[in-house]
Order: sequence, then C-alpha cells, then structure tokens
Amino acid sequence: MAVWDDLVGQSRVEEQLAAAARDADALVTAHAAGEPEPEASKMTHAWLFTGPPGSGRATAARAFAAALQCVSPDRALGGAPGCGFCDGCHTTLVGTHADVEIVRTDLLSIGVKETRDLVRRAQLSPAGGRWQVIVLEDADRLTEGAGNVLLKAVEEPAPRTVWLLCAPSLEDVLPTIRSRCRHLTLRTPPVEAVADVLVRRDGIEPELAQAAARATQGHIDRARRLATDERARARRSVVLKLPLRVDDIGGCLKAAQELVDAAAEDAKQVAEEIDVKETEELKAALGAAQGGRMPRGTAGAMKELEERQKRRRTRTQRDSLDLALTDLTGFYRDVLALQLRSRAALANTDVRDAIERIAHDTTPERTLRRIEAVLACRKALDRNVAPLLAVEAMTMALRG
Ligand SMILES: [Zn+2]
Repeated sequence: MAVWDDLVGQSRVEEQLAAAARDADALVTAHAAGEPEPEASKMTHAWLFTGPPGSGRATAARAFAAALQCVSPDRALGGAPGCGFCDGCHTTLVGTHADVEIVRTDLLSIGVKETRDLVRRAQLSPAGGRWQVIVLEDADRLTEGAGNVLLKAVEEPAPRTVWLLCAPSLEDVLPTIRSRCRHLTLRTPPVEAVADVLVRRDGIEPELAQAAARATQGHIDRARRLATDERARARRSVVLKLPLRVDDIGGCLKAAQELVDAAAEDAKQVAEEIDVKETEELKAALGAAQGGRMPRGTAGAMKELEERQKRRRTRTQRDSLDLALTDLTGFYRDVLALQLRSRAALANTDVRDAIERIAHDTTPERTLRRIEAVLACRKALDRNVAPLLAVEAMTMALRG
C-alpha cells in the first residue's frame, strides 16, 4: 500500500507531491554519488497545504513526508518513492522517524517558545542523510510572534530542511510566510469516495458507511467516528432534534444549556483520559516522593502543566460545540434545499420527517436567517464569548 492510499479524492495533489518526491529523491541520489544536482526540480523547501476540515491536509503532508524518506530499493528500478513498506515510509507514518517532526496541538495557539525550539530542530542535518522534515499541522494557530520566528526559518532554510505547513485556508497564514511556500489545495472529497474508503479500509458495513459519509458531507474523520462510535451517533441525533424544540423561550434556554453541558462533558472525558496520566508522568519525572510529596522548586512546572490542561479543556469544549453547530447548519441547509426544490441529495436523511415539516411550515428567508444565527454563534465562540451566552442567543434566534 503506497503512502498516498490514505488520501481520498485528491488525485491532483497526489500527482504533484509524487512528482516532487521523485525529484527530491533524484537530488539526494545525485548528492550521494557526488554528481551535480539536477537543475530543474519540482522539489522545494516549504509547502502549504490548505483545505476544508476533513479534506485530509495533515494526511497529505504526512504522506509526502514519508515519500521524502522512502528508501525502497525499487526506486533504483524507476519505482516512485512512497512505497509505504520500507523503513523510511513506515517509521514516518507511525511517527518514529528520527528526521520527521510532526507537530499537532490541542491548544488554541502555538507560541514563540515552541516555535523557536522547532526552528532549532529544523536546522539539524538529517540523521538518515535525506531530509529534515517538519510537519506543522496547525499552522493557523501560530501567534503573530511565532509566525515571525517561523518566517525567518522559511526564508533561509538549511539545504535539506523541508517545512510542511497545514491550515484551513490561505488567509489563516501570515502573507509573508505563504508567499514563500508552494501552495496545494485539497478539496472536500465526494461522499462516494469517503464511503468507499470506510468500507475498504475500516471494514465498515456499506450501508452504515454510506449514511455516515453523507451525514458528514465528505469529512473523513468525522464520518469514520460516526460510523464506529455509538456515542457520536447519539450526540448527533440529540443535536438534530434541537430545531423542533425551540418553540418557546423555555425550550430555547433548555436546549442551549444541554448543548453546552454536552460539550463540557466531552471536555471532561478527554481530561479524565489524558490529564491524570500526564500529571502522574510529570510528577514521576520531577522526582515525587512516596505519598506524592513534591520536591522543592517543582511547583512552577506543575502549575504550567495545570494551565496547559485548562487551555486544552477549553479547546475541547469549543471543538465539541463547533461540531454540533456544523450538524445544525447541515440540518437547515437540507431544509433550504427542500424549500428551493434543489435536486441535491439531503445530508440528514435520518431526520427527513423533521426537515420536511420545517420546510413546509416556514419560508426560505426564515431558513437563511436561521443559518445566519448558527454562523453568528460560531463567530461569537471564536471571539471568546461565554459559550452559554452565545448558544442561548442562537437558540432564541432559531425560534419558530
Ligand atoms: Zn518507502
């Protein structure tokens, strides 16, 4: 299985990356043989992958990183790098290759200090003699200061360093940085392609795969989660009942409270899974004595971890709410499609009755205003408005 097999519906991007990996390989081979480097090359040292959530930005970046590290003997016979099996490909894909750093964050932002560390790391020459690859999965979360630190590194890269940046859109990255990157755009994969991958790779029943792919409109990770996680399905069905519950003020307030509570519950669950282990590990590393007493001078480190965990809970809660808002938008988009007699297939066929009822009882103008209310809520959350306040304002605006 080649490294590109995890990319779904992105044949153009795949072609470009495969060509670059081939040229990158020619550069390394020429260099090792003491020959002059080939002049024309599709390889470059900074790449920017953009595309909507779920399109597979990070997957594409990781596949490219693997292809750059591919040491398959088939390459000498004209095979393309990125076999998926050799040591270089394999260790990159599982995250243990010495020359590949994959940075993903569960925090809201990436600061100057972390970025400085990365830049230092990027300057090392590759231990395996090929490329030093840094994959920054959330380049949109760099603070402005961090962006400027990164800019210097991208402007004057070490000869064998490759930066792979991922972000939802071009606007999410400093103009000075993006102008120095080769830009690749991933598209939302077609529903059929997502369903196909769920069946082929994850062994999910075709009918369930189809339903999950349709409900999530081409978002692969969410589709997989929906198809495999009972709890995710339950959560979604609660969210999709909300439009029928916002008839009066009491109903609106109650629905808002439930939505926010559910998101807080998600954050709490993640915290329980990760925080405890993390805290234990840090305590052990700092030399906690039997009975949990901490040595002098370690309070700062413990405090720092607590802060980090708190920021992560905020982020998880926000992501969970965001997911609910995405489902709601999808619901009203279906309502609008019916009202406008669009021929597009409904995404949420499992709640067709509710969609038909609301479509029949209201007007397209009303539906548009409701979609706007959901988007406004999302913007408010982005601006750090208190979640309950933002969600209440939304449910009130959705009222009959
Ligand atoms: Zn390989």
